[in-house]
Amino acid sequence: MNIIDGKLVAASVRAQIKQEVDAIKQAGGHIGLAVILVGDDPASKVYVRNKLKACEETGMDSYLVNLPADSSHERVAEEIVRLNEDPKVTGMILQLPLPKHLCEEKLVDIIQPDKDVDGCTYQQKGRLWTGRDSLIACTPLGVMKLLEYYGIELAGKRAVVLGRSNLVGKPLAQLLMNENCTVTVCHSRTKELAKVTSEADILCVAIGKAKFVGKDMVKQGAVVVDVGMDRDENGKLCGDVDFAEVADKCSYITPVPGGVGPMTVTMLLANTLKAYRLQTK
Ligand code: NAP
Repeated sequence: MNIIDGKLVAASVRAQIKQEVDAIKQAGGHIGLAVILVGDDPASKVYVRNKLKACEETGMDSYLVNLPADSSHERVAEEIVRLNEDPKVTGMILQLPLPKHLCEEKLVDIIQPDKDVDGCTYQQKGRLWTGRDSLIACTPLGVMKLLEYYGIELAGKRAVVLGRSNLVGKPLAQLLMNENCTVTVCHSRTKELAKVTSEADILCVAIGKAKFVGKDMVKQGAVVVDVGMDRDENGKLCGDVDFAEVADKCSYITPVPGGVGPMTVTMLLANTLKAYRLQTK
């Protein structure tokens, strides 16, 4: 069994990004990420802080727009438009979830597609779906980077994606299909789930249920990628896969923490760099 070390891969990708950012800045270019945070949800504040810190480490500029929780749709939209028009802002994310009174879809769709470094506008999703170059949601992109880094062969393999969210499951299934995997997507209504997941050469799990995937759901020698970030019965961070039970059966497995997690913010930086190139080419 081999452990896929997300911290190692993230550090290597970030070092390369830093070099490219340095070169852009030396040439007089501006590269910057703006994060819009509406309200003061504690978990969101931590995520935002990590994103801004990562920008700083790689030399990118970062801009935090923190709006009050009771901001109207018009107020948030106004900020998005302002950032769309600011040439120093090359990438933008609207931190989710938003307060309940705001419509996520309507606001996300105001983001200029070539600044959409979270890959959440319908234009970028459509580009991915139709096989065109696109800005891809950071977590699934990070999963693909891990598989690539470890030289895991994908073509012709049977991949099962457990979870079908717009943020993770759906784009990940598309990315695996683009790499010529035969992909099955499972969700809460899937029948005989363990039978389906046990057929996977590559099993990617993103459901948000602590230690849900046990050894009876995994094929001997499978590659298991655990996207989940959950809390176990003792409040300790864990994934959707029962690592202790499953690890011995796998050829490769990602731990939680230290697997997919470090890749998400890293891919946000990679996307901001890509967005800069899209805007300046
Ligand atoms: P989500 O939007 O809640 O979607 C969960 C998906 O799992 C849904 O498609 C749901 O099916 C499916 N599901 C739920 N219970 C199931 C069950 N018992 N059997 C089969 N399928 C089931 O979640 P998400 O945003 O994709 O996130 C998933 C997990 O990844 C969470 O733990 C989240 O914290 C983590 N995450 C981590 C990162 C990172 O950076 N590491 C980034 C994003 C998310 P239905 O569609 O039928 O409801």
